[in-house]
Amino acid sequence: MEYFLTKQKALRTLLGAAREKKEKHSYIFEGAKGIGKMTAAKMFAAAIHCEGENKPCFNCPSCKKHLASTHSDLIVIGEDSPSIKVDDIRALTDELFIRPALSKKKIFIIENADNMNNDAQNALLKSFEEPPEYGIIILLSQNRENLLSTIRSRGTLITFEPFMEEDIERFVSKKYQKEGEELRFIARYSGGVIGRAIDICEDEEFFVKRKNIIEKTAKLTEGRLSIFELADEFDIKNKKSAMENCDMYFDLFLSFMRDVVAIKNKSEIINTDMAPYIEKFSSKVTLGSVVNVIENAAKVKAQLNSSMKYELWIVNMLINCWEDIHGKSSRS
Ligand SMILES: [Zn+2]
Repeated sequence: MEYFLTKQKALRTLLGAAREKKEKHSYIFEGAKGIGKMTAAKMFAAAIHCEGENKPCFNCPSCKKHLASTHSDLIVIGEDSPSIKVDDIRALTDELFIRPALSKKKIFIIENADNMNNDAQNALLKSFEEPPEYGIIILLSQNRENLLSTIRSRGTLITFEPFMEEDIERFVSKKYQKEGEELRFIARYSGGVIGRAIDICEDEEFFVKRKNIIEKTAKLTEGRLSIFELADEFDIKNKKSAMENCDMYFDLFLSFMRDVVAIKNKSEIINTDMAPYIEKFSSKVTLGSVVNVIENAAKVKAQLNSSMKYELWIVNMLINCWEDIHGKSSRS
């Protein structure tokens, strides 16, 4: 906990505001998935409600309720929800007009605010612009461009920057006793996103999955059948599992392709233990085709949601990728 406090500028700013009782009414927290927006939002809420010194003290009755996730003046919506609809927002605004029960402020966190459709955002607008004096609304967003400009312009923006690689290394080596090449890989692969580093350390299957995806991706320089072997690694037959894990599959795929670019540019790669696969692949493809593949895959990753035909999107993306790699002349 101390770690986040000292290293994350966004959180320091928020806690400073809470301690001086200068918190605003409407916030947009922007940053990558896993970067710590929810942790920060909950600590901010605890600090606002805290009755002790050095807020949040984690010792007063209010803080204890926060630690147990039972504080009735903190309401979180949008967790694990693929879409946030107008009815969800109406329920929230109804709740907003009931005064806080235990403290002076009633705090609402909307996780995955990017998942609000336009109707939901319009329904939120008035409350977000001018909540009751006791109300605080915090939207957590991976990309504020997903929000309507009317919402964007009414919230105080708090941007969450990635941690430094050495900060991730220090955290991971202390908490998970990792060292050497593995530690270095985790720090670099996480891209400074603490949640990604934690996911890798706590997912026993991660390194197996990484090996499989890299091996199958490397085979894309071969025949068309390779498209479907790799598609299987993206879990196209099991959409439920895929929706939980597809970010990881995309990240692994993209890390391979970025390593290919790194080899072509004679710079350092991240998947050092898989270097032979990356080098062989690199010798058979052009830089331009790999850049296309990365752009295309990143675009698909950003657009994916649970209402789409996942299998179709993945296969289509990999066909495009295969065709890029093999040159346009192979298109038929
Ligand atoms: Zn407290």
